[in-house]
Amino acid sequence: MIDGFHLVVQALKANDVDTIYGIVGIPITDLARVAQASGIRYIGFRQETSAGNAAAAAGFLNRRPGVCLTTSGPGFLNGLPALANATANCFPMIQISGSSNRALVDLQRGDYQDIDQLDAARPFAKAAYRIGRVEDIGRGVARAVRTAISGRPGGVYLDIPGEVLGQAMNADDAAATVWRIVDPAPRQLPAPEAVERALQLLAQAQRPLIVLGKGAAYAQADDLIREFVEATGIPFLPMSMAKGLLPDSHPQSAAAARSLALARADVVLLVGARLNWLLGHGDSPQWAADARFVQVDIAPSEFDSNQPIAAPLAGDIGSVLAALRDGVAARPITAPEEWTKELAARTERNDAKMRERLAEDPQPMRFYNALGAIRAVLQANPDAYVVNEGANALDLARNVIGMEVPRHRLDTGTWGTMGIGMGYAIAAAVETGRPVVAIEGDSAFGFSGMEIETICRYRLPVTVVILNNGGVYRGDEAADGADPAPTVLNARAHHELLAEAFGGKGYHVTTPTELRSALTETIAARTPAIIDCELDPAAGVESGHLASLNPSSAAAVSAGG
Ligand code: ADP
Repeated sequence: MIDGFHLVVQALKANDVDTIYGIVGIPITDLARVAQASGIRYIGFRQETSAGNAAAAAGFLNRRPGVCLTTSGPGFLNGLPALANATANCFPMIQISGSSNRALVDLQRGDYQDIDQLDAARPFAKAAYRIGRVEDIGRGVARAVRTAISGRPGGVYLDIPGEVLGQAMNADDAAATVWRIVDPAPRQLPAPEAVERALQLLAQAQRPLIVLGKGAAYAQADDLIREFVEATGIPFLPMSMAKGLLPDSHPQSAAAARSLALARADVVLLVGARLNWLLGHGDSPQWAADARFVQVDIAPSEFDSNQPIAAPLAGDIGSVLAALRDGVAARPITAPEEWTKELAARTERNDAKMRERLAEDPQPMRFYNALGAIRAVLQANPDAYVVNEGANALDLARNVIGMEVPRHRLDTGTWGTMGIGMGYAIAAAVETGRPVVAIEGDSAFGFSGMEIETICRYRLPVTVVILNNGGVYRGDEAADGADPAPTVLNARAHHELLAEAFGGKGYHVTTPTELRSALTETIAARTPAIIDCELDPAAGVESGHLASLNPSSAAAVSAGG
């Protein structure tokens, strides 16, 4: 005989799940034990949202669904923000949750942790399934894996009531109920006429631009993308998590001339990037009013969501880019020199401004001089993974820290979610074994900060650099009353003591030189560490680069404030 616990583990293993991120409790504690005994790595967290975020990041890095395990009720609910965030970001992940007795929950008889979890999860997931019988465990897992990873990836919820885990069946019969899915994310080839339409449009362009999004990073079609970009000479702009797909130092990068590139481009090839708020919805004046768009996406419903798509290319990025590359090999396209020179001139001007900013050495430290020190260390360690969240800490680090290798930057993504930091950092370390540097605002760190204990317990090579200006946005707002102002945290905090409390290394630094030496040391030693960087509480601006989305500052601006 075999029980539900062992069968779930067999089904996961059959589909190459080698790591589970979660928190144990009723009714799934034995599931974690059985998984661990079977050779699956189990990473136990302190809060489920971080476990879910880790699973999502693992999904992005590996192109296989990451798995998060939660208990019934509150544990399940804590996992939901991560499930929703994974879905919003198109990361494949599966939240497997134990749940309470259906007969009692459905009659609302007040069972332990009673929630109709399936219904609760549905709006936040790409799909939500419940396994109602032990003999459906293999099918349920196969369905969850298939759905998470095929087409546009996303978060899948898989509900397993405690009683199903406890059911048993004949082991031989059970073996036949588990299967490994074939070709989990089938290629989707673009139609030849769609490729032709796109190439014709690009060939006519005076000011073509390629925007690479995190879908392009996820697709792992790095060589094809590089070949197409280099064969055409078209300037490219990486979205933040696509940085490194081609090195930021690449001569065709328009990253340092972003505003000009968007405002002037006449034909834009979007590769795995949505025209959402992060790209100003494709609207003028950020974009030229007559800009025409070519979009590569695996989800055809994405086309025309914001702007007319003149040449939609439905398909997987690898297949589409192969077709585009073959197309330009037969009929070359070359970006007009006038355009590439215009962008190069702006890049040079902006690079010079950046160098000046980084050369300043104000005391107390501010964002730029701290980030300059981090940049120098990361340049010497290009294969370190970078996790980044915060407001100013995110906006400025994204510009200052160049990436040279694909899929080495994980950040707040599509929703600008604070709290992804430690979960993403743990997944990057667990999945790759490489050093991870999490560049965190002090406020952002607080959302998942307790996971520093998880980092220390598993001895992960994660250095958390906290850019501590003592507040949300900044730490110097005067209070209107006895309590601290709403944006104010604690500029005198010593976050490094948190690492020390759990056996990691702690550093408190006040100068770029100290920061540089501490970070060099922690990366080399691969020790869990926190570097608390004391910044000027007056450093930073409200809402970072998103002031226009903040109703109060937008009102102040329109009122001339
Ligand atoms: P960014 O925030 O970097 O602009 P988005 O998350 O908005 O990126 O966009 C990613 C897009 O990539 C989504 O629309 C998704 O459907 C698409 N996508 C994901 N994987 C693939 C793939 N393998 N092939 C084609 N498109 C993909």
